[in-house]
Amino acid sequence: MIYLDNAATTRISYNAIQAMEPYLNEIYGNPSGVYKLSRQAKEAIEEAREIIAGILKTNPENIFFTSGGTESDNWVLDNVEVGGHVITSSIEHHAILNKCKQLEEKGIEVTYLPVDKWGRVDPKDVENSIKDNTSLISIMMANNEIGTIEPISEIGMIAKKKGIRFHTDAVQAFGHIFIDVNDINVDMLSASSHKFNGPKGIGFLYVRDVDNMGPLILGGGQEMGMRAGTENVANIVGMGAAAKEAYEEMRWRIKKEIYLRNYLISRVLREIPRVRLNGSPNSRLPGNVNFSFEGVDGTSLVVLMDNEGICISAGSACSADKEGVSHVIEAIDVPENFAFGTVRLTLSSENTLEEMNFTIHRLKENVRKLRSAR
Ligand code: PLP
Repeated sequence: MIYLDNAATTRISYNAIQAMEPYLNEIYGNPSGVYKLSRQAKEAIEEAREIIAGILKTNPENIFFTSGGTESDNWVLDNVEVGGHVITSSIEHHAILNKCKQLEEKGIEVTYLPVDKWGRVDPKDVENSIKDNTSLISIMMANNEIGTIEPISEIGMIAKKKGIRFHTDAVQAFGHIFIDVNDINVDMLSASSHKFNGPKGIGFLYVRDVDNMGPLILGGGQEMGMRAGTENVANIVGMGAAAKEAYEEMRWRIKKEIYLRNYLISRVLREIPRVRLNGSPNSRLPGNVNFSFEGVDGTSLVVLMDNEGICISAGSACSADKEGVSHVIEAIDVPENFAFGTVRLTLSSENTLEEMNFTIHRLKENVRKLRSAR
């Protein structure tokens, strides 16, 4: 099998599994207890919190564990008060977009900013959309479909100058590119463990100004009273281990992914006719490749590739089962005859040049087959 769908999820790392194992077996104490078995579990949670805080260059008190990216994103938007105004982009993940729809039903105004042909939000558009009642700006750090990295620090500067809280959905970015929350002026940041070789069903939200944040779930006092419920100790520990590993290895992982990505992109653009690369040529996630093939059905291409053991996706995993063109591909104005032939290949540093060669070979053949069947 050749796995090229790392934006959908990643393989859990051996180190993460090893780190989790004791907390699934012998150290099963409830972290809220006072005896040693519980204290050990609690210590492990706090260690993971310190690892993540250290990576983001913040303090452990600013990190809250959640069930993943969707929950972190929803939590941020739940804190917007009726009468407020939210600025976001038209290419956010549905964890943001569908929650924004709900906010609109409650009487909260939402501005969905357009993007340019590379999928980039213009910071000037953000500035020009600010109103007296704007209470939140939420722009993703990197897009999950086309990999475009957004100008987050410029937007952060605008938000800071105007005194508006700024959230970024960094689910695709954390663990893949270097992030310092102070450099980029973000107030809140969402991340998800299964996107950086940790376990599924766990993530976190960074909150700079904890006093101005309402709780998500009320109950016991877990997560500093902000997100109650007995902690998923093993998952938290696994996420911490995966985050540590990702950051320790980040430089070479980025280098390898960019090398493989550029090799794949340049050969496909050269060797397959009527294809376009979606997303920014420069400001893009190291492992992201997104092509539109003219006159090809993207889903059929995914099926043919799967028959040969190659995992790729049409659109994003979350919308792959929906009819039609994804909102991201629509937002960057991909011509209709290309749009339906969109596929995403997201690499990891575990991929090899041989895998790229085989993938290119099969892409060529399958695109030709689908075109000639029309
Ligand atoms: N935000 C982005 C940009 C994503 O890519 C995803 C998942 O694909 C999510 C949020 C949702 O994260 P999770 O699967 O942890 O709920």
